[in-house]
Amino acid sequence: NTPLHELDPEVAAAVDAELVRQQSTLEMIASENFAPVAVMEAQGSVLTNKYAEGYPGRRYYGGCEHVDVTEQIAIDRVKELFGAEYANVQPHSGASANQAALFALAQPGDTILGLDLAHGGHLTHGMRLNFSGKQFDVVAYHVDDSGLVDMAEVERLAKEHRPKVIIAGWSAYPRELDFAEFRRIADEVEAYLWVDMAHFAGLVAAGLHANPVPYADVVTSTTHKTLGGPRGGIILARQAFAKKLNSSVFPGFQGGPLEHVIAAKAVSFKVAASADFKERQRRTVEGARILAERLTAPDAREAGVNVLSGGTDVHLILVDLRASELDGQQAEDRLHEVGITVNRNAVPNDPRPPMVTSGLRIGTPALATRGFTAEDFAEVADVIAEALKPSYDAAALAARVEALTAKHPLYPGLNK
Ligand code: PLP
Repeated sequence: NTPLHELDPEVAAAVDAELVRQQSTLEMIASENFAPVAVMEAQGSVLTNKYAEGYPGRRYYGGCEHVDVTEQIAIDRVKELFGAEYANVQPHSGASANQAALFALAQPGDTILGLDLAHGGHLTHGMRLNFSGKQFDVVAYHVDDSGLVDMAEVERLAKEHRPKVIIAGWSAYPRELDFAEFRRIADEVEAYLWVDMAHFAGLVAAGLHANPVPYADVVTSTTHKTLGGPRGGIILARQAFAKKLNSSVFPGFQGGPLEHVIAAKAVSFKVAASADFKERQRRTVEGARILAERLTAPDAREAGVNVLSGGTDVHLILVDLRASELDGQQAEDRLHEVGITVNRNAVPNDPRPPMVTSGLRIGTPALATRGFTAEDFAEVADVIAEALKPSYDAAALAARVEALTAKHPLYPGLNK
């Protein structure tokens, strides 16, 4: 029972340093969040020791009576949260959930239709080097010049290629998708509709974003982005798909489920049903709107900064730097220098290479979890706008970031 700091000081030191990094910088990577201490407690529990191949009540191992309880709680809670008939909480990650979902709906060689990676789609929606792109015949739809998904193109491509599966979902897109329209198109060509709500699941749980569950055949998600839980995946669906999805996850792609993570998912679903969570998601969306307003103001435009689609409906904005002297890499580095973590991101038809890009993806979930209010987000937005100008005072901006981190302490009491 030797504690980590005694047993392995090298690893402990890096973990401690990561805690300090999270506490002392502004985390604005749109796919990141801070899990509650109770979630991390469940995730760091003895459940990590348990093998439990199978599903609650039907396991291939003895001694599953307690993990049956936690897994069933997770299933019941997430079904209730999203109004789903069926849930599988075992996928180890979002990519695993997507793999299991896709192979339950289609066979290798079938055609799938998804949003182009370079236009905001995810790797698992048909990228060339991903399983989805290697094993399926991929057709991609795009965003139009206004930065919105081109539904006319979706319909045209669906009619032309008659895909087995249409994928609606994104990793970098600032607007709500029209699920009813996707459903209509899918019905017209007799395709399955799979929605990947990994990014916006927290907003859906809070009632701030349309729920895809009534429209889609299958819905996948991660549990660690806006949803704010442990790192992992889930699959929701109509009951008719239950058998296929269960066998696709196990034994199709996975062995023993991560019961410690599943218990942590259960805790996070309880949190996501609370009034506090709704309020946090409200601040998340409000913060993103404040960022969009500030980064489309005249002085930002003068510095060549703009926001794709002109604003946002969700928890992130996409900064367009095509008119700026800074490329995505330089802008990411500048913000890093003042203590703000974001990621560079290609804009549609990006003139710069994918490792450089002409954009930034900036998200508000982690700061909203930290307690940031509209006033704080206005200050963050101003720091970002100043940092992206041709000349900037790095030390002064870093001091403003430090004041914000001090105002909203993260994980107080966890430092060793
Ligand atoms: N789906 C979408 C839309 C995502 O944005 C991501 C992660 O970025 C994933 C799936 C994959 O999740 P994970 O990183 O847990 O595999």
